[in-house]
Amino acid sequence: MLKLKNVSKFYYSNGVVTSGFTKVNLELEKGEFVAITGESGSGKSTLLNVISGLDTYEEGEMYINGEETSAYSNADFEDYRRKYIANIYQSFNLINSYTVYQNIEMVLLLSKLKRKERRARIFDILKKVDLYKFRHQRASRLSGGQKQRVAIARALVKDTPIIVADEPTGNLDSESAANVVRLLSELASDKLVVVVTHNYEQIEPYVTRKITMHDGRITEDLKIDHRKAAEELPEEGIEEETKEAAVSRPAAEVREGRKHLNIISRLRLGTRNTFNLVPKFLLLLFIFFFVSAAVTSLYANIRESKHNMSLQGYNYYFNNTDEHRIIIKKADKSPITEEDFEALASLANVKSVFRDDVLLDTQVSLQCNEQDKWYYFGGSMVDVTTMDYTNNDLTYGRMPVEPNEVVIIGPKDYYQNTQEAANDIMNSDFQLWVNSNYSSDAVGDKIKITGFLYRESDNWDFTIGAYQELFDSVKRGINSGYSSTTVKVAGQELKSDPWAMQNKVVPSNRVGRGKAIVSSDWNYFWEWQWAPGQSFTVTVENLYYTDSKKFTIDDIYYQWNFTEKTGYSDYAWNNGVILVNAQDYDEFFDKDCYQSSVFVEDAEKVRDTIEVLKEEGYEPMYIQDALLNMDRTWMVMNDIFNTLWSSFLVVVLFFISYFIVKLIMKSRNVYYATVRMLGGAAGDCRSLIRIELMLVLNLAFFIMIGAIYAAHLGYYQFDFVNVILEYLKTKDYVILYVVLNLMALIISSRYARQLFKTSAMNVYKEV
Ligand code: ADP
Ligand code: MG
Repeated sequence: MLKLKNVSKFYYSNGVVTSGFTKVNLELEKGEFVAITGESGSGKSTLLNVISGLDTYEEGEMYINGEETSAYSNADFEDYRRKYIANIYQSFNLINSYTVYQNIEMVLLLSKLKRKERRARIFDILKKVDLYKFRHQRASRLSGGQKQRVAIARALVKDTPIIVADEPTGNLDSESAANVVRLLSELASDKLVVVVTHNYEQIEPYVTRKITMHDGRITEDLKIDHRKAAEELPEEGIEEETKEAAVSRPAAEVREGRKHLNIISRLRLGTRNTFNLVPKFLLLLFIFFFVSAAVTSLYANIRESKHNMSLQGYNYYFNNTDEHRIIIKKADKSPITEEDFEALASLANVKSVFRDDVLLDTQVSLQCNEQDKWYYFGGSMVDVTTMDYTNNDLTYGRMPVEPNEVVIIGPKDYYQNTQEAANDIMNSDFQLWVNSNYSSDAVGDKIKITGFLYRESDNWDFTIGAYQELFDSVKRGINSGYSSTTVKVAGQELKSDPWAMQNKVVPSNRVGRGKAIVSSDWNYFWEWQWAPGQSFTVTVENLYYTDSKKFTIDDIYYQWNFTEKTGYSDYAWNNGVILVNAQDYDEFFDKDCYQSSVFVEDAEKVRDTIEVLKEEGYEPMYIQDALLNMDRTWMVMNDIFNTLWSSFLVVVLFFISYFIVKLIMKSRNVYYATVRMLGGAAGDCRSLIRIELMLVLNLAFFIMIGAIYAAHLGYYQFDFVNVILEYLKTKDYVILYVVLNLMALIISSRYARQLFKTSAMNVYKEV
């Protein structure tokens, strides 16, 4: 059934050709129990490996049932091994983490047998090798003799016509060895059994043929009939020939799509492999948990940074560029009424409406007006009537009751949080300043701070609680601060930017309505160099409205009489302003509510909300669309940088985890070689690796989700988990899930490729 004709095996490495064996001629038949003997290095193992299809040969021809094998591909040899060969090794090569039963079952999973048939067959064979009692024992806990009997049972259950054993008794005591030899000899009744041994005496009583090798050649081939006298076969003539062109075939490649295990077996084995070595499983679980958490955290950080960017992006008019904010005006430019506010609040996806939204973009400060005192409180204003503090809640002082009184809410750790400082502050006069993007404008009259509430806070901003009157002056200050002014005087048109004091309209109670006091510089507009009595027009313009008024010049101011004429003190700063009556000023700047901001619930649905607002008669402007180009570019750059950086981190993580996984899985190398030795295809192994790694990854991922959920329920708190909770939505988890699974898939494929590139077969070539 097996015939070798002039077969030679050369090893070719580093330019040196060594001979494994030379010109071997053999014909082996079913029913034979063949012993191959010879000293170490004579080529016995090499011959066995060639017969087993684990090694290729370079010369001659090997026939299996008359079929030539010299043109076989790797896949053909895979089939050949599965169909014809069962191996038994000196070192047993069992799967140590499997039970006796599972070790033997492994072979049958590769066949098409039903589960019940498999069981019956395994039990049958276990009884035959006298291991039935031990069927649930792990292979690692058996004695050497028992292990070799399992290996024989495994070879038996494979039910191939050829059984090949390389020093099967080499690691056994004499009693176990005798047992094993007897078992092997029994098999030889209907199979071909080839045994390599040092210890010929041990198997002599059973062999039907003795082959002796020396220096890569067969020197003796004896057929032994135990009843008749031994008959010597003539030695083959051996011709010496130069050994050239000894080129090995390419290393075994991983072949896609070829599998012998069915899907259920693969799932069963994959699951078994995942859990049967507990420390390995825990280690892998830890690694994948770490990778999942790291990638998730990274992803959440990108989200957070994007969100923060959206807040930081700035333009001329808006400080608050929250991605939830839509600024609205009426399409017909009319003021927004009370009914409008109610209707807005009830729209879908609208979380809140901020009426005087310009205050959102405004920072105010209270500064002490008195000499030698330096007090400063910067922050935002809140309507005191919406605060529910009473005098008892305050740290110092009382709540305000007058329009020019305010209460300060600040952080507990503020250095002036003392009774002494509070008393001094409450006895001082303050000026309110509105900081627009262009300028700081003093608004309103003298202000008194009447009380303090110092409390826990993680920033240094103050909140200033004030009455509506103060708000109104702030709003006027803001409108003024954001308005450009155009003056038409003596046939000229002079335009001033919002940040310039030149030609800025300021209120004064020293001017009558329709009148103005201007700088003496204006004298030069006229030939006779005298401005009083002349008329001019002022147009103020901001994002929301344009308004014009005509004034008559009542008086002019010089540097030397500036304070006397205007009531303002700082000439250097205020030079150029146009003083008008406070009511005229209010008419310019104390407007109805023309603009508000709507805050949406879900920023991703903002476009829908914008459409709805348009239908409702508004002119919506999404704040993110109003950012300046420069900022856009910067944000895009930031985005690109973020993406590159996180891709880099993911790749680094990938390689780290790949190497760790490879290390951990190294213990599996022997396992997968065993699977292949038993007839499993590369595809089977890859599939098992995949199932194992992806199973662990999925467990790790869902443990992580569980941990995040526990944080959500408030069982514990970590900053980075908070970021995850805040910025990741279901969709993001799905993306992460897919990405991580892909990562595990790539790792398992890489590992599988590595596994087969290096050593799959070599593990089982006994030298
Ligand atoms: P035995 O099993 O009889 O002890 P082997 O078959 O292992 O002998 O070895 C036969 C010859 O082939 C020896 O000279 C050995 O050095 C050589 N040989 C075996 N394996 C390799 C290999 N992978 N590369 C190079 N030479 C090898
Ligand atoms: Mg050997």
